[in-house]
Amino acid sequence: MHRTSFDRLGLADRIVQTLKEQKYEHPTPIQEQAIPLLLEGSDLLGIAQTGTGKTAAFGLPILHHLSMEKRRPAAKSSRALILAPTRELTIQIGVALKVYGRDMPLRHTAVFGGVGQNTQVRSMRRGVDILVATPGRLLDLFNQKHIRLDFVTHFVLDEADRMLDMGFIHDVQKITSLLPSRRQTLLFSATMPQPVIRLANKILHNPKKVSVAPTATPVKTVEQKVMFIDREKKRSCLVRILQDPAFDRVIVFTRTKHKAARLAEQLTKSGIKSESLHGDKSQSARQRALELFKSGDVAILVATDIASRGIDVDDVTHVINYELPMVPEDYVHRIGRTARAGASGFALSLCDQSEIPHFTKIENLIKTKIEILEGERPQAITTKRQEKSIKKKRKKKKRSSKKTVNF
Ligand code: AMP
Repeated sequence: MHRTSFDRLGLADRIVQTLKEQKYEHPTPIQEQAIPLLLEGSDLLGIAQTGTGKTAAFGLPILHHLSMEKRRPAAKSSRALILAPTRELTIQIGVALKVYGRDMPLRHTAVFGGVGQNTQVRSMRRGVDILVATPGRLLDLFNQKHIRLDFVTHFVLDEADRMLDMGFIHDVQKITSLLPSRRQTLLFSATMPQPVIRLANKILHNPKKVSVAPTATPVKTVEQKVMFIDREKKRSCLVRILQDPAFDRVIVFTRTKHKAARLAEQLTKSGIKSESLHGDKSQSARQRALELFKSGDVAILVATDIASRGIDVDDVTHVINYELPMVPEDYVHRIGRTARAGASGFALSLCDQSEIPHFTKIENLIKTKIEILEGERPQAITTKRQEKSIKKKRKKKKRSSKKTVNF
């Protein structure tokens, strides 16, 4: 099979050299499609999940442009601004760009909430070439006049769908309104719901579109299975599963922060050393949990959807949905944590009777029948109360449609 190499994409030699040293042999599909368009200066709408290599897809052309235009950044300002929804993702993008640009005399920094602002303010004082930020802290520092946004020439909005889910729409709109109108803008999103389409229409100018997996289609290399099981048997079943040594690096998902914390404790008590990652933990505790997981000291990470965004850990062998997500798109995000950068992966969902409606929605979204590993698919239950409420809603609808006057 013919595969392009990085030196054909038009990137500066020293970037290509760094990639060779990083053992990146071939561009991933999103890199192959996006890099030439971005080098030409186009705006871009990228539909891609984390794990597809999108950080390099947007980062390499930015590094290329910034190193070619030999301008120095103005005080308190940045030439490139990358917005990401979570602190973890912000740190991770910052680290990746430092690696890719390590042979270039460019200044980088990252700003995000949950930690003191002084170091961040100091690092912005002389200005930087690349700033990676979460929206809230960026606006905070802007309002305090520690950051200027009027010199930005390259703007990336990463994980736009998640950004909107997390309620950052107003912050994002405010930030975009503060940027110069002459700039290159890139928007990346794993899914394209209406609000993201509207935002893209607003901030992108004649964008080129690249898409590496059709919207909400899980990476093909993930093997997906389901076990239908009673809720009260889930924990003992999980312990049994995790005792298998093949489950070497596993992310277990729960729906709530509380559940994530408790389950990690319970697993540890059962002899399976686990850490949890959720929004109630301090930034340093989250970093510590992630480091233990990354280094392999702890094989099991119990996480909530939001906390898991942007976790960049290679070789996650299994994703286990201990509780199914309420939003079916989150299922796609979750299983995207395994099978990264072309490796194969395995996702197992433990589904009880009350979760059947969510499970059905997930199967409809991904247009796949998930293989049953154990148990039988139960009927979705509708309690008497649910039935009553459905009837009531129908009646109400009938009444209101009668009231409608047709002109
Ligand atoms: P991302 O989607 O940007 O989070 O990247 C996912 C992972 O793939 C990261 O660990 C990258 O270091 C790795 N990666 C990105 N591009 C390539 C490439 N062309 N070859 C090999 N690994 C890559």
